[in-house]
Amino acid sequence: MTEQVNLTEQLKHYFGFDSFKGEQESIIRNLMEGNDTFVLMPTGGGKSLCYQLPSLIMDGTAIVISPLIALMKNQVDVINGLSEDDGVAHYLNSSLNKSAIEKVKGDILSGKTKLLYVAPESLTKEDNVEFLKTIKISFYAVDEAHCISEWGHDFRPEYRRIRPIINEIGKAPVIALTATATDKVRTDIKKNLGIVDAREFKSSFNRANLFYEVRQKTNDIDRQIIMFIRQHPGKSGIIYCLSRKKVEELAEVLKANDIKAAPYHAGLDSATRSQTQDDFLMERIDVIVATIAFGMGIDKPDVRFVIHYDIPKSLEGYYQETGRAGRDGGEGICIAFYARKDLRKLEKFMENKPVAEQDIGRQLLQETAAYAESSVCRRKMLLHYFGEEYDVENCHNCDNCLHPSVKFEAKDALIVVLEA
Ligand code: ADP
Ligand code: MG
Repeated sequence: MTEQVNLTEQLKHYFGFDSFKGEQESIIRNLMEGNDTFVLMPTGGGKSLCYQLPSLIMDGTAIVISPLIALMKNQVDVINGLSEDDGVAHYLNSSLNKSAIEKVKGDILSGKTKLLYVAPESLTKEDNVEFLKTIKISFYAVDEAHCISEWGHDFRPEYRRIRPIINEIGKAPVIALTATATDKVRTDIKKNLGIVDAREFKSSFNRANLFYEVRQKTNDIDRQIIMFIRQHPGKSGIIYCLSRKKVEELAEVLKANDIKAAPYHAGLDSATRSQTQDDFLMERIDVIVATIAFGMGIDKPDVRFVIHYDIPKSLEGYYQETGRAGRDGGEGICIAFYARKDLRKLEKFMENKPVAEQDIGRQLLQETAAYAESSVCRRKMLLHYFGEEYDVENCHNCDNCLHPSVKFEAKDALIVVLEA
């Protein structure tokens, strides 16, 4: 591509948006110039467009590797809805039957398919590899790229096979995208995807509209939660618990208190789960009590609170889960209940895992505990975890900034007394 494409025009043409968000334009240019590209952008930042738009402009088909079948269908429908043609985007995964697969392949060969979403386990299938070898690939996009790392919050072993498969199918630029920005995950992604020289585009991870609070977990936790919900009538919220049993119990307690709540965890059948998701999106229920199985890809813009009933397993996970609040930029209250006792319980759970995994798990847990016990600005700590300096004296939107702890004041007072 010699002449500079007017990307803003293309953006308007395909998506109807007037301008790019953040660094989208530079990211797209970098990729279109044939360079490996690494995008670190918080949830809701607009990562998808960074591969969708160039795929529509460039020659060939872009391969998008994405972990979630449910999300794939949704994205494909959106892209196809942009034009008259329903073959512009397709997906290949285990949910398709033979004839559907033939249709997909036919559209790709005819040249009309610009975007092909594949699950990692479908990408590695012999048949698909052989087929993909025969087509022109514009680039590979690896979405949710943190799945490649054991330090991420959603490790998928199949993601480790992506690079060897790309080498086999045929090389093309790679764009990796994630909302996980810790150093360890970043390094893992680059190494495993073989894109160590990729240009990195990192936006700020600060979610200024989210209020962060940690509360000591006491016996009246249920009552505290009920009171909180009553003070926010009709507002949508998510409560995360570690165990399915707790999810069920708490949902019952809330319902018994006239709160429109429902449980959600991987042990429920898929019809029930999708019904609950729908009910939540349509606001037939206000509160979802869930394990971390709930959330990835849930795009409800006006979730007003996220409560952690138990300490999360990592700060990374905590950031992602709280990130589901206030996606529309409005209020988002994030409360985590913390008890030392839970920490020990979690450590015990890990004991039957392989040693290396235990080490990782313990370290992640320690970091969460340090966060919970600290009197430093929560935002500052969270951003520091993502390698970002937050230089503001008082964020005015976390418990530690709004109500500096009594302990701290007492100590200060003591110093004043001593110095007087
Ligand atoms: P991410 O994958 O980073 O979490 P998405 O790709 O799902 O974010 O995008 C979040 C929202 O932002 C979507 O609703 C998308 O349509 C919107 N969006 C993306 N880019 C733009 C833009 N340039 N202008 C307006 N809206 C945008
Ligand atoms: Mg995304």
